[in-house]
Amino acid sequence: MSILKIRKPDDFHLHLRQGDEMGQYARETAASFARALIMPNTLPPVIDPPGLFSYKAAIEREAPGLEALMAFKLLPNMNPLIVTEMKKAGALIGKLYPAGATTNAEDGISSYEQIRDLLSAMEEAGMVLSIHGEHPEAPVLEREISYLGELEKIIRDFPRLKIVLEHLSCRESISFIEEMPDHIAGTVTTHHLLYTLDDLMGGALKPHLFCKPVVKKEEDRAALAQAVCSGHPKLFYGSDSAPHPKNKKEFSSCSAGAFSATVALPLLAELFEREGALEQLESFTSRIGAEFYGLPLNTSSITLKKESWKVPSLIGGSVPLCAGEMMTWKVMK
Ligand SMILES: [Zn+2]
Repeated sequence: MSILKIRKPDDFHLHLRQGDEMGQYARETAASFARALIMPNTLPPVIDPPGLFSYKAAIEREAPGLEALMAFKLLPNMNPLIVTEMKKAGALIGKLYPAGATTNAEDGISSYEQIRDLLSAMEEAGMVLSIHGEHPEAPVLEREISYLGELEKIIRDFPRLKIVLEHLSCRESISFIEEMPDHIAGTVTTHHLLYTLDDLMGGALKPHLFCKPVVKKEEDRAALAQAVCSGHPKLFYGSDSAPHPKNKKEFSSCSAGAFSATVALPLLAELFEREGALEQLESFTSRIGAEFYGLPLNTSSITLKKESWKVPSLIGGSVPLCAGEMMTWKVMK
């Protein structure tokens, strides 16, 4: 196949940052996606309606055609009344970052016990809880598995709360999601579907592939790819594209995050084609997530063509995933 036309995708996990480069990052996403769920771990974080409105307006002003779906960050000691306010303001999720788990998460949650009232208010309001599921004190490769126990308790104590476990990185998490009720789902990124620890550090260290959770073993990557390519009904796309300035990545204390927005769809098309599953791509990127969130499916479409092109070495001051490499699929304008 040399032309692939699919319903325009949604990215249910995106970091756009703030400041001068934000517009460029947003436009990279707008070229491939109709909607994106914008993560709130900015500085300062998105925690109230005015913050949400101004961030959304700034994104949509910079990237016409992209609908910014908004999130707010859950903090210890937050008043539970904020949940209804944020829902009214249009927030789709409240995001739980375990304290210290990733970029700008130092002020996160140490235990869900700290935010029982908030979770209860979210359950009542029908708001989705989105989780960066890593236990920050566990050894780095075991952080995701180590978090599943905490997640199980949240699911037990808040049986009607809709939950998304973000950026699955290991095979145990897929089984976990499968065993849970239908209102528990997971997102999968491009890089966790394609890369392993060996790609990250088997040869020269690749800082632009360093992210949290870190990419894992081949059996984890293969299990994730097998699951999404077979049309897994509870896994959908969230890129976790997370640009950092080049000098924060090529640095002695490298920030976590892979900037994948530009190459997301070409890489996914290549993977699904290799797995003989191109017909499943549209469900993964454009249907399952929208249905989970109760959003209408996008009505516009996007065309990918088999045409080689070279990924730029720098976009908005950040080095994109696969910088300088050739892609086989291209998103047509
Ligand atoms: Zn993220």
